[in-house]
Amino acid sequence: MKSIVVIGGGVGGYVAAIRAAQLGAKVTLIEKNNIGGTCLNEGCIPTKVLLHTAELYSDLLAGEEYGLRINGDISVDWQALQKRKADVIKQLVGGVRILLQYNKIEIINGTAKINTPKSVSIAKPNGEIQRIDTDNTIIATGSEPFIPLIPGVDLEGVINSTGALSIEEIPKSITIVGGGVIGVEFAHLFNTLGAEVSIVEMMPDILPRIDGEIVSLMRSHLENKNIKIYTSAKVASISKNGDMLNVNVNTKDGSIILKSEKVLMSVGRRGRLEGLNVEEVGIKTERNLIAVDDNMETNVTGIYAIGDITGKNMLAHVASEQGIIAAQSIMGIKDKMDYKVIPSCIYTSPEIASVGMTEEEAKSKGIDYKKGVFPLMANGKSIISNETSGFVKVIADSKYGEVLGVHIIGSRATDIIGEAALAIKLEATVDELISTIHAHPTVSESVKEAALSVKNRAIHNVNN
Ligand code: FAD
Repeated sequence: MKSIVVIGGGVGGYVAAIRAAQLGAKVTLIEKNNIGGTCLNEGCIPTKVLLHTAELYSDLLAGEEYGLRINGDISVDWQALQKRKADVIKQLVGGVRILLQYNKIEIINGTAKINTPKSVSIAKPNGEIQRIDTDNTIIATGSEPFIPLIPGVDLEGVINSTGALSIEEIPKSITIVGGGVIGVEFAHLFNTLGAEVSIVEMMPDILPRIDGEIVSLMRSHLENKNIKIYTSAKVASISKNGDMLNVNVNTKDGSIILKSEKVLMSVGRRGRLEGLNVEEVGIKTERNLIAVDDNMETNVTGIYAIGDITGKNMLAHVASEQGIIAAQSIMGIKDKMDYKVIPSCIYTSPEIASVGMTEEEAKSKGIDYKKGVFPLMANGKSIISNETSGFVKVIADSKYGEVLGVHIIGSRATDIIGEAALAIKLEATVDELISTIHAHPTVSESVKEAALSVKNRAIHNVNN
């Protein structure tokens, strides 16, 4: 029986472990902290628990618009929300543990170090060192917040995403350094919960790699909610000013000082390699990330790497898919990782979801494309939920109408993107999206209407 050691029990590692066990391997999973890793414990899941309550809160504040009469105050009980967050995590982590047990995967709590391609040792919390021989190793150690060397970054009140999730109370004001997905989700969260929020982003715009029209609509949403956004702006230093922090920012119009109670550093993540011994074993790394081939194997035969540590796309569903590919490769099913169809979602209000090529990419690659855009203002379900600001954009190639990209800003975008991912994966054409009957009333009807728009045939919009 083939033996496999998986280092790291996050969404990459535990999925790889389960798939390898399904295929008949003897699997040992080593985790130094909590099963579920970043995603379940301090990433995807806890952020979305908090954002879900923020959405409910904001809907209830606008209750009268929906025909609700609310007697008495509505307020956020941050401690109760923290408890809910902990309960959701506990339930999910518990579920993963049961699945690991069901698949007869041995879980060892400890910090792993690779000795040779065939041997791993584990430093356990009680000080004991256990050594295990293995046929293959899968490294799934994930990533951690990258903290740049800015003066004052170590001051009290400067936090990272993990700290922000468990902050003792909702801050009155917060400066968020970094306008990527994580920074913008936290900006939306704290703003909805009542904080004054500023975003400082070094690049010319927030949300890099997202469709340009979607970014400008999101930016106006955020600014309408009074979130201050400073782009092409760089934090020079942070200093203490009584109970407040002063963030000194160089903008294109000169230096400014942003005052806030907290500063959230959200400028990116770095691979977690410390103590793993990868370089000594000869594994090729680059900027703290592990290089892999399409089967997820490193340059050292028999050692694989998956998830954030590969730096491909730091997303939970990419980590899991890479885990499946690695497990299958080891067990003799050669299947390559395909990065062409990776949906990405942003859980703001409205939500953003996209998959495939953006219009900007199509232009820069010189692709002869057509686009169809359908505004949610004309979608019944969006009107019902009072979330009409947004649109669905379909990018298709001019010759055959193959769907190349779908980009959505609007209510339920993160749920309906699955249809678009499947369409691109199956190399579907806009005609196939059009001839698929979509249920009514749903936001997903807008995907069909956007496909119809590619052909100037939208039913519920004027065509030009
Ligand atoms: P991780 O989940 O980081 O797991 C790695 C595990 O390895 C950890 O548990 C760690 O303790 C363990 N480990 C490390 N070194 C060792 C060692 N030497 N020995 C033993 N164990 C070790 N992605 C999405 O797709 N959707 C989202 O909505 C989303 N939201 C996010 C929100 C936030 C705030 C953050 C920070 C991330 C978010 N992500 C999201 C990204 C997602 O969490 C990561 O892409 C995903 O967790 C990567 O999985 P992984 O298995 O590679 O690593």
